[in-house]
Amino acid sequence: MGENKQILDTLIIGSGPAGLTAAIYNARAELKTMVIAGNQPGGQLTITTLVDNWPGFPTGTGGVKLMMDMQQQVRNLGVTILSGVVKLVSLSASQPVRLFKIELDNGEILESKAVIIATGAAVRWLNLPKEKELIGHGVSGCATCDGMFFRGKIVAVIGGGDTACEEAGFLSKICEKVYLIHRRDGFRASMTEQKKVLNNPKVEIWWNSEVAEIKGEEKLEAIKILNNKTGEEKILPLDGLFVAIGSSPATKFLEGLVELSETGQVLVGKNKDFITMTNIEGIFAAGDCVNIKHKQAIVAAGEGCRAALDAESWLGAR
Ligand code: NAP
Repeated sequence: MGENKQILDTLIIGSGPAGLTAAIYNARAELKTMVIAGNQPGGQLTITTLVDNWPGFPTGTGGVKLMMDMQQQVRNLGVTILSGVVKLVSLSASQPVRLFKIELDNGEILESKAVIIATGAAVRWLNLPKEKELIGHGVSGCATCDGMFFRGKIVAVIGGGDTACEEAGFLSKICEKVYLIHRRDGFRASMTEQKKVLNNPKVEIWWNSEVAEIKGEEKLEAIKILNNKTGEEKILPLDGLFVAIGSSPATKFLEGLVELSETGQVLVGKNKDFITMTNIEGIFAAGDCVNIKHKQAIVAAGEGCRAALDAESWLGAR
């Protein structure tokens, strides 16, 4: 694969709600727009069963369905959603206008006048010995994807946020027993999600509890739990362990190009005229990869819209 000679107006990296909303807006503004789908086409909503906080769906809608409809809407506007992962973004030497050169993992090279980063975030792990080796053998980072393998079994979910509560609720419909293990004595999750697990008789909550050890050779057998208030340790035999302790921004490939926070979030907001612009002129960012507080799909979509409008006016002014 070599250089693709078409020069784009906007290249969007990521195909979750932020990236696809940006694509809709830039395509409707008749900008030459392309989306690079990334590692998880459709983003995190594709691993969510029921989305019941997206306006317009009185009884909720499926995460996969929502993203497939969004993709179709983008394609209907003539935008290509290219499979692939971006390896590198650099400034191209092309003259007379400054262009960004985008290199994909298959060697393909694209050029664009503006770039919108909408790469979202990836599962965060506990980083305990054996955790990585046992992924697919009892350890998982996605209940919606792997829950079915644990029908009638005993599982634990780690975390106290919306994801952990949602996953515990989802697993309680499939598994015999679900332990929800949280390091503090209060959830971070929204009231709605908290209430659901607190009232779910199949979910047993262990507060102030941390995973100290993962046990098992070929497959997960048990975890050692430490009560961080009493110091008590317990061995909990398990078939499945679902790690739901949040996510980290998928921004490693941007190191050295745009300014990132200590935790790898893309920093935007310094330029009051283009609020979604990074420290590099012409590179914008939106969604869960950015230093915004509320990591919600609907916020990501809104941020994607803003980034597209910023890119459009920046392109018009240059
Ligand atoms: P999160 O809100 O960051 O929660 C992570 C949870 O994991 C926290 O309870 C945290 O504990 C715990 N945790 C973090 N590191 C840990 C460690 N090393 N060991 C043990 N526990 C650890 O992540 P999330 O639940 O994935 O949610 C991410 C964002 O997406 C949030 O803004 C959330 O509202 C949103 N979301 C929304 C929905 C929805 O609206 N339906 C669904 C899913 C996610 P502490 O509380 O002690 O910090």
